[in-house]
Amino acid sequence: MHANSATSHTLGYANAPMRIKKVISLGGGLHHAKPAYGEGFCIYNDVAFAAKYSIEKYKLERILVLDTDAHAGNGTMEYFYEDPRVLFIDLHQDPRTLYPGTGFAYQIGEGKGKGFTINVPLPVFAGDNSYQLVFEEIIEPVVKEFNPQIIIRNGGSDPHFADELTQLGLTVKGFRMIGEKVRKISEICDGRHPPTTPVIDMIGSGYNKKVLPYAWLALIAGLANFKIEIKESIAIPQQFQKDLVFEETKKVVKEVKRNLKNYWKYVKM
Ligand SMILES: [Zn+2]
Repeated sequence: MHANSATSHTLGYANAPMRIKKVISLGGGLHHAKPAYGEGFCIYNDVAFAAKYSIEKYKLERILVLDTDAHAGNGTMEYFYEDPRVLFIDLHQDPRTLYPGTGFAYQIGEGKGKGFTINVPLPVFAGDNSYQLVFEEIIEPVVKEFNPQIIIRNGGSDPHFADELTQLGLTVKGFRMIGEKVRKISEICDGRHPPTTPVIDMIGSGYNKKVLPYAWLALIAGLANFKIEIKESIAIPQQFQKDLVFEETKKVVKEVKRNLKNYWKYVKM
């Protein structure tokens, strides 16, 4: 999809959550585009545009951007690095091993935005258990404390174990879990009736066509609570049947929590 049409598609949907609780932008999530120039297959950053639009048009003050793409969202991070209105949580493959080479645990924001950028650089081959741990130990407590008015999630199928550009280890089951977790965190909010935070979900990456439709569908099924069976389209190799680097992920989670503990009281060491 052309970057321009994906961007206008997403922006069209940025209005929708005020009436509808969950919207999905297929082809959106162009998270590498910077404020001044495009890079990494991305010309305009529709993730950042949707967040800025929510601030300007709807006067929102607490926006969660959750980036689960395998690559760090370097463009989105740059947009909001000093902005405490946007909590940017980014799970991605260790940037020492993958483009764009940023998104380290120590990068937590600057000025008033310090503590509002959370990078979780996952070890190569990190799988479903690693993602689950990050949700339970970092994302869920921080989001509960932040209490977002809107959730913008981006990321497609490139953390899949068979993706051809990356080296992570998610299975289709793991993608469904991400969708389910996003649905669950959309239900964490104080004082709103019904208690649901609107979600804009941008699904747009994936470099193995055999697994892409299944992983994308799993994200949607998890978010929308569709009780359909989705199979893995290719056999899971032995090395990905267990999350072999789970112990490594635990160390990363500990480091991220150590960096955040002065900013988020719900994060427990
Ligand atoms: Zn990616």
